[in-house]
Amino acid sequence: MLISDNILKNVEKPARYTGNEWNMVYKNPENVDIRFAFCFPDIYEVGMSHLGMKILYHLLNEREDTFCERVFTPWVDMESKMRENDIPLFSLETKDPIYLFDFIGFTLQYEMSYTNIINMLDLAKVPLKAEERLEKYPFVCAGGPCAYNPEPLADIIDFFVLGEGEEVINEILDLYKTWKKAGASKEEFLETIALIEGVYVPRFYEAEYNTEGTIKKIEPVNSKFPRKIKKRIIKDYDGVYFPEKIIVPYINIVHDRIMLELFRGCIRGCRFCQAGFIYRPVRERTCDKLLDIAKKLEDSTGYEEISLTSLSTSDYTQLGKLTEGLVREMGERKVSLSLPSLRIDSFSLDLMKKAQEVRKSGLTFAPEAGTQRLRDVINKGVTEEDLLNSVKLAFNGGWNNVKLYFMIGLPTETYNDIEGIAELGEKVVNAYMNVPKEKRGKGLNVTISTSSFVPKPFTPFQWEVQDTIETLREKQKYLKNMIKSRYIKYNWHDPELSLLEAVFSRGDRRTGQVLIRAWQKGCKFDGWGECFKYDKWMDAFEECGIDPSFYANRKRDYDEIFPWEHIDIGVTKKFLISENEKAYRAETTPNCRLKCSGCGAASFGGGVCFEP
Ligand code: SF4
Repeated sequence: MLISDNILKNVEKPARYTGNEWNMVYKNPENVDIRFAFCFPDIYEVGMSHLGMKILYHLLNEREDTFCERVFTPWVDMESKMRENDIPLFSLETKDPIYLFDFIGFTLQYEMSYTNIINMLDLAKVPLKAEERLEKYPFVCAGGPCAYNPEPLADIIDFFVLGEGEEVINEILDLYKTWKKAGASKEEFLETIALIEGVYVPRFYEAEYNTEGTIKKIEPVNSKFPRKIKKRIIKDYDGVYFPEKIIVPYINIVHDRIMLELFRGCIRGCRFCQAGFIYRPVRERTCDKLLDIAKKLEDSTGYEEISLTSLSTSDYTQLGKLTEGLVREMGERKVSLSLPSLRIDSFSLDLMKKAQEVRKSGLTFAPEAGTQRLRDVINKGVTEEDLLNSVKLAFNGGWNNVKLYFMIGLPTETYNDIEGIAELGEKVVNAYMNVPKEKRGKGLNVTISTSSFVPKPFTPFQWEVQDTIETLREKQKYLKNMIKSRYIKYNWHDPELSLLEAVFSRGDRRTGQVLIRAWQKGCKFDGWGECFKYDKWMDAFEECGIDPSFYANRKRDYDEIFPWEHIDIGVTKKFLISENEKAYRAETTPNCRLKCSGCGAASFGGGVCFEP
């Protein structure tokens, strides 16, 4: 299919739709058995910055029998041109309509991209509901962190992949080839893959509800399907596939650099953080492997910047060796590094100085709460002393840009904790003022950003309430008034958006109809301020007879059955309950390297749980 110049000339950033970038994979579709449309439910610049997409795109294309192509959500200008000209959603590689493909796969990174998924299916001329997609349509699948509570999308997606896609996808594709040759029904294929560990086919599971609206049970419709679907993980993280080439876009994207993933998982266990639990246990790559990957990627892309990406990069056990190695090997080629700021000591400051000769980036810290009491409640193993020591050193080294991230509405929070946020900001300003003028950088910028607490599945706070919109707004106003220093800028997150995040992160199957209704009313790109239509969302809830506060602002009992009760991430409910109880006693839990707390993730038989 050809996208005419006339259309491309009349949309913002046409390179979002043209493809043909450096290192793009192209195959003749006639020479492959499987065509896979890898869909990212946001614009090109966001999707192309996502490491998981880069890995899976190249992993799938390593297979001779498969051609994986990329699809992003067209921005509103392009969407209207496509609808006007009857152009179905197409892939960047061949520009073929994706309804011709064997699989349409979405990555679920954020609940507020769900309406984009619906919009993309509609643009692709593919029926929205799984039950309406007859034999001729592709299979629609999804994976990624939001798939751990798949229920809001259960009526739309044919199957979910739980856990690390690199581990499962080849098994699914091998079975698909056999199925395709046999000419059997779609239902038969889904029945077969439903038996693969890590694959969830929602149509084979049913939920029953109590009269007050909570879930009575979720069970398979037939005893041959597993009662619990266990996530899959990569045990040998060093040996797992990693691409040696990645696509280099023609336009600026959000993270336009090489991203080196040092490890999966996180040893910390902050009690609000879903990633810290769903990706357990921590599995590291060796320093040598990372240096090798960095070198190959630098050669194949020409990128001049590398960022170390992981959940808590400063916990990488060989960080010093790795950074020194990267500075040594890449330094001559003027590759700059962005490094984590947390727990800066004179050693890491020295490395940062070396690494950032090209560009001195700002320092970011996420203390998350303003007082030590609340940091203990959330198990954030950072003290005020750590933070102030780090900024003092950095200010002495000439840094003058600091970003501080906090959360508002955390369980047990009081106004005293909010005052603590402002006080911490002031202390950072004082730390700068105490550095002699000739040593410190010119002009200080401190940014305090607050997001609102969103209770997430599979965290010790999954039972908690989210503050109402009014309370969140009141707290934001209170903090704004508390901040006096002219050096501090305050940013906050929209509480209306946080409410919707809370609804869909803990939503059940019934909330899926609200997604469709909201999309019918014009909701899409909800994470984009200029597109977010809160009133339309509220109308959609009302028309579907669903009360958002039932999902967002209701405290759950420990014995309530969650919509994700049939998903098994390895970490046990017993452990999450004990962490919740400890939070109320402001008791901390040591990180996995200090002491194993027996969370249950050792059942996967790998990672930090087995380190000597
Ligand atoms: S089993 Fe122990 S070491 Fe392993 S992830 Fe859980 S708490 Fe950490």
